[in-house]
Amino acid sequence: MDNLEQKIRELKEKKNAVLLVHNYQVGEVQVIADYLGDSLELSRRAAQVEQDIIVFAGVKFMAETAKILAPSKKVLLPRLDAGCPMADMITLEELRDLKAQHPDAKVVTYVNSTAEIKAESDACCTSSNAVSVVRNIDAKKIIFVPDRNLGSFVQSQVPEKEIIFFEGYCYVHNRIKVEEIEEMKKMYPNAPVVAHPEVKKEVVATADVVLSTSGILKYVAESKEKQFIIATEQGLLDRIARENPGKEILPALKPKFCSNMKKTSLRDIYDSLDQEKYEIQVDAHIAKKAVKALDEMLKYI
Ligand code: SF4
Repeated sequence: MDNLEQKIRELKEKKNAVLLVHNYQVGEVQVIADYLGDSLELSRRAAQVEQDIIVFAGVKFMAETAKILAPSKKVLLPRLDAGCPMADMITLEELRDLKAQHPDAKVVTYVNSTAEIKAESDACCTSSNAVSVVRNIDAKKIIFVPDRNLGSFVQSQVPEKEIIFFEGYCYVHNRIKVEEIEEMKKMYPNAPVVAHPEVKKEVVATADVVLSTSGILKYVAESKEKQFIIATEQGLLDRIARENPGKEILPALKPKFCSNMKKTSLRDIYDSLDQEKYEIQVDAHIAKKAVKALDEMLKYI
């Protein structure tokens, strides 16, 4: 395994490549990242990298986003079958229908979406900055796609605006149940409940704090507490546990895994670099429109 890690490092050097890794990836991939982070952090990185090749260990919409933000770079996704079911839940026709029904609304699209949907949007956002993007966009009415749970959380934080939801969701976060959190609270009554805003509204209501993945990392690192019940994908919990050895990181009763995020192995990364596969391309016309929405997203922390 060490040997494969070493070979990846050598190939990266030889090909002038950088490895961006999402927080939900498996541990062996997380530890060899040049940059490990959430969607917003990795998008910012992608827009600034100097290397010729970006290898993106994540899911397809992330590699597409990197390509839109860094069009002159070669962007590789090690597993072409690593998609995001939520990103594929909304079609262009459905978004256009919503826009026709609400012509006075602006569209804010979660970055977990296809390039086509981004191109049809006024702004993108991540879970870190969705509240700021919606609060600051120049409209009273917002069509928020595709995640209804994140949209609902944003609505609770920005009550002065009217949000039109779409019924998309992340199957991983949507699976976390209130009863599971309640069970954990009984077992660990002093542990704060920290939830990602992709969880259901009822689960948000049980949480002490609701934060994006980077927000959760910061919260645990800075907190004086020793135990935390964390309602999000298991990959992030593994990272937090690794980086906070004196603290106990507890999942919401049963750990939740995103099967797409777990597909990429060290071998896939090596093959991707070696054979320069699978190169992600975005149609120039779509990219030109989508980059405007992404630039709006990058204005906010
Ligand atoms: S965790 Fe959810 S939102 Fe993230 S890639 Fe998996 S299915 Fe998509």
